[in-house]
Formats: sequence, C-alpha cells, structure tokens
Amino acid sequence: MLNIAIDGPSGSGKSTVADLLAKQLDILHLDTGAMYRACALGAVKRNIDCLCEEKVKDYVKDIDLQIKYENGRQVTILDGVDVSKEIRNNEVSLMASNISSLSCVREKMVEMQREVARLNDCIMDGRDIGTVVLPNASHKFFLTASAEVRAERRFKELTEKGQTVDFEELLKEINLRDYNDSHRKIAPLKQAEDAHFIDSSDKSVEEVVDFIISIIK
Ligand code: C5P
Repeated sequence: MLNIAIDGPSGSGKSTVADLLAKQLDILHLDTGAMYRACALGAVKRNIDCLCEEKVKDYVKDIDLQIKYENGRQVTILDGVDVSKEIRNNEVSLMASNISSLSCVREKMVEMQREVARLNDCIMDGRDIGTVVLPNASHKFFLTASAEVRAERRFKELTEKGQTVDFEELLKEINLRDYNDSHRKIAPLKQAEDAHFIDSSDKSVEEVVDFIISIIK
C-alpha cells in the first residue's frame, strides 16, 4: 500500500495540500484532525468535560463515528449525522486539542486510522502520523509555517465562511494549540526523523504540492 504521512501544526496547510495530492495521485485523503474534532463535538453535546478521562473513556469506547467518502471528499458522520461542517467551528478546535491529549481517545482513533491505511492507498494528515500511526509510511512530510502566517490563513478561511473572528484572538488560540499539541505526554506534535521538512510560510499551495510530488516520484 502507498501510505503518505503529513504532519504539522494547525493552519500549516496540511489538509489543503493533502486534498490536492490525493486528487493527483487518485488515492484517499484521511484528515485525522476531523476525527478528534468529532470526538470533541460528541463529548460537548453530551455535556462531558473534554479533559475528564473517566467520562470521556466511557463515551469514546462506543463512539459512533464513521468516515465516508463522497466524490473523493471525506465526510465525517457522528451518531448517524454528517458533522463535516459543524466540526470546523472555532470552538470545536480547542476542545479537540483538549480531548486529543487523552490516551483512551488516541488509542481508539489510531486503531481506526491504521485500518484505513491497511486497506487503502492513502495520504493521512495529522500530528503523529509519521511518528506513531504509520511509522513505516512510504513517505513522510512535516509541514509548518510561522504562527502569524497560519493565523492569517485561518482568519481568511473563517471570514470567507461568514464567521466573525478577531485576528489577535486567533493568533493566541493557534499558539495555545501549538503548545498543547507539542507538549502533551502522548504522541506530541513532532517531526519524524525520516520526514521531509517543509516551511510553507513563503510558499504557495501549488509549490508545496509540486515539491511533495517530486519526492514521491
Ligand atoms: O488538524 P486539526 O486542527 O483539525 O486538528 C484538531 C486537533 O486534533 C488538533 O489541535 C490536535 O490537538 C488534534 N489532533 C491530534 N492528532 C492528530 C490530528 C489532530 O492530536 N493526528
């Protein structure tokens, strides 16, 4: 199987790049962040504190989460409902960062992610794909950009969707999520030793995609 891992902090462009690569290579793209976001949304809807391991453990063991593909696009289904849009809300982002620090959640998600990679040629993006989920991936990339550039991209994305957001607030949240994601005990955000490092601060999406394709081919 062809398994490509792309890791990096939030807003580094992983998902956009992975989407384009998946289309060019005609393989699946699994956005693993969507899975942690769906876990968080489900917990919030049940009034479960995303940092309470005991309660989250009970909830996540029977979580009704499915990832489907419609015309090549990932659709995230939680409790039988398509939550692909709802999980993108800014409030869900921080909750996802919290819930993803719990081992009970990571174990369950990693198991589902490995199953996708076992059955499909795929490109998977996240924080721990090259280090934990698919240590034997065919190709690994670590994509990053400065916090300011990432906050600008997120600002643009959210305002284009009609959401009202404050830039300074977004920058603070990005820094907080970076800190949480790279300092947690289990599977912290870290570049795999054998991953190609890409700083996309001054690069267009197309330039990043072309670079990755050149390495794969
Ligand atoms: O990539 P995205 O921003 O959608 O991910 C949401 C959150 O899920 C991240 O802040 C991170 O805490 C968590 N995550 C993770 N491991 C992954 C993917 C995402 O911990 N493989």
